[in-house]
Amino acid sequence: MSQCLLFLSNQSFVSRFEEGRREPALHCMSMNADLHAEQFDFAIMRRRLKSWYKKKGRELPWRNLDDPYRVWISEIMLQQTTVTAVIPYYERFFNRFPDVRSLANSNQQDVLALWEGLGYYSRARNLHKAAQVIVAEHGGILPRSADALQTLPGIGRYTAGAIASFAMGQSAPIVEANTLRLYARLLGMTDDPRTTAGQKQLWNFAEAILPKKNAGDTNQALMDLGSLVCTPREPDCPNCPLLRFCRAAELGKQAEIPRPKQKTKITELQDICVAILDGKKVLLRQRQLNERWAGLWDFPRWTSEKALPKLSVSLLPRASLEQSIITEIRERTGYEIDHGPLSEVIKHSVTRYRIELFCFTAKKVSGRKKSGEPLEWVPLKDLDDRPLSVTGRKFAKTLQAGGLF
Ligand code: SF4
Repeated sequence: MSQCLLFLSNQSFVSRFEEGRREPALHCMSMNADLHAEQFDFAIMRRRLKSWYKKKGRELPWRNLDDPYRVWISEIMLQQTTVTAVIPYYERFFNRFPDVRSLANSNQQDVLALWEGLGYYSRARNLHKAAQVIVAEHGGILPRSADALQTLPGIGRYTAGAIASFAMGQSAPIVEANTLRLYARLLGMTDDPRTTAGQKQLWNFAEAILPKKNAGDTNQALMDLGSLVCTPREPDCPNCPLLRFCRAAELGKQAEIPRPKQKTKITELQDICVAILDGKKVLLRQRQLNERWAGLWDFPRWTSEKALPKLSVSLLPRASLEQSIITEIRERTGYEIDHGPLSEVIKHSVTRYRIELFCFTAKKVSGRKKSGEPLEWVPLKDLDDRPLSVTGRKFAKTLQAGGLF
């Protein structure tokens, strides 16, 4: 059987090659006919990486940590989120929850309040749940193996590898956005790296390049190299320590590898939300598990079935719109309202939706809270402590600035 076929078999690439030699030479990387023989000397690659990382690696607050709890939190925060956005949240989170037990003993609402604005709120809910599992089933200590870590809510293969290698030095591989691009280019992978077969090759490569000990530094060096040098556009190949091993550079295909994700079709939506006041209280609704931003609070909000004129208050067909809002609020909350003016229009995007949110104010006139609805009259002075959706907070700030709240 050729080495190419060995690589594609179910058994670990590393263990197969280690039967014969300690530092494997990798000759063939894919079923894709475009890929040809390539030679990787992992020992040399690691040496080059190490020396580059020493000089050029990023200084980040969560670097060089041997505390698995801190690594875990920082890695979850960094999912789908930029380093710049994470930094202010990072210290605040540890001031409030310095260890697993403090997080497990907290209220989910407190965790969501600290997470407000960071997005992807299932991350915060899972952190809270996982902390409770760690306390209940692991004596308050994060499991030491990448496999056991993956049994916790919200921890996938990448995060488990990051915790096990960064904090415990274990030889656990990682593939995330930066290393996916880097590995795909090194391998010259012209196939889609997101398919099952593509993922398998990348994870095998990620495993093969790691040393047996202190793998955390190698993983961080690889991530930094992907982020700083092997950038999505115009990678700095002349200054790349792995240039001589890179198949994409050899072929001049850096711009085509990795193959871009298929573009998702964007759907335009128009939503309406209403801040209803009753004296010094405002009506909020907690978003439910089957909704976006589950667990956070928001003003009563829905998607308009009729198209509203783009960003033009004066063009709104006032009478019919007002009546439809009064009816919606009655059905959704049980309250009769005195309809107020349009306050602002907020544009925002969520996954594949581009949304224009028309924000109105109103006053409660009469009625009783609809039973079973997660609604609450919240004193205006307590609004800052409630975890609100990003647009809910933006609207609240506009109303506070205008003196209404
Ligand atoms: S040589 Fe260029 S394309 Fe290849 S890994 Fe380095 S930066 Fe990326």
